[in-house]
Amino acid sequence: MRKVGVVGWPVTQSRSPVIFGHWFERYGVEGRYELIPVRPEDADDFFQNLPAEWTGVNVTIPHKEAAARHVQCHGPALTLGVANTLWRQGGAVHGTSSDGHGFVASLKADAPAWDPSMLNLVVGAGGASAAIVAALKSFGEVMVVNRTTSRAEALAEKIGGVQWASWDALGDVLGKAGLLVNATSLGMTGTAPLELDVSRLPKNAVVADIVYNPLETPLLAAARAQNLFTVDGLGMLLHQATVGFERWFGIAPDVDAELRAKVVATL
Ligand code: NAP
Repeated sequence: MRKVGVVGWPVTQSRSPVIFGHWFERYGVEGRYELIPVRPEDADDFFQNLPAEWTGVNVTIPHKEAAARHVQCHGPALTLGVANTLWRQGGAVHGTSSDGHGFVASLKADAPAWDPSMLNLVVGAGGASAAIVAALKSFGEVMVVNRTTSRAEALAEKIGGVQWASWDALGDVLGKAGLLVNATSLGMTGTAPLELDVSRLPKNAVVADIVYNPLETPLLAAARAQNLFTVDGLGMLLHQATVGFERWFGIAPDVDAELRAKVVATL
C-alpha cells in the first residue's frame, strides 16, 4: 500500500482525498491519501527529511515556499519558488507546481473556443495568479491587473514578458481580452463579488473563475447572461491533481463527470 497525502496547516478542508480515492478505485491502485497537518514551525524540518513512509505528497498553504526550499525544483517551481507536488526519484525528492498546468488543462477541456492569440487578462496577483500567469505566458500575450498595483508590477517582472496595468484601467482593457481570469478571492462564498462590466468583453471571450465555492460565482453568472463561454474553478483543482497521481502511480488519470460530481457533492 503506497501512501501519499497533502501537507498543510490546516488541511482539514482539502478535497484531495475524494479526488485520489476516486482514482484509486478507478485504476485499481493500492494507495492511501492522507491529510498531513504540519505546523509552520515544523515545515522546514519536514521537507528537509521527507519521512520515508510517503511515496510523494501534495503541499498546500502555507507550506508551498518551504517545500520549494528543500527539494529539487522543476518547471514552474523554479520560476515561482513554490512547490505543491513532491515525488522521489534517484534518491532525491523533486518538486513542481501543478496549478498552472491545472488551469490550462481545465481551460482546454472546458473552453475549446479559447483563442490564446488574443489578450489573456488575469485579475489578481497572489499565489494562484502567479502560477496561471506563468502557464499562460507560453500561449500568448498576458496582462496582470491587481487591486494593489505594485504586486501586479512585481509579478509581471518576476515572470518576465508579461504586461501589467492598474486597477483603474481594468475596464478599458476588457475590450481586447479573449480570456478574463478571476484569480482573486473575490466571489468566494462570504466575500464581495468581482464587479466588472463583462459586456465590454469581445463576444467570443472566455471568462474563467478559479474560485470554486460557489461553482457559479457572480462573475460567471454575469458572463453567462451575456452568452460568453465560462469555466469554473473546479476544473483547475481536479486537473492540477493529475500531476501527482501520474508521478506517484505512473497513470495519467482522467478528469471526468463522475469525479466532478463526487467533488461537487462535498462543496
Ligand atoms: P492570495 O495569494 O491571498 O491572493 C489573493 C488575491 O486576491 C490578491 O491578488 C488580492 O489582491 C486579491 N483580493 C483579495 N481581496 C480583494 C478585494 N477585496 N478586492 C480586490 N482584490 C482582492 O490567494 P491565492 O492563493 O492566490 O488564491 C486566490 C483564490 O483562488 C482563492 O479564492 C483560492 O481559494 C482560489 N484558488 C483556487 C484554486 C483552484 O484549484 N481552483 C487553486 C488555488 C487558489 P491584493 O494583492 O490587492 O491584496
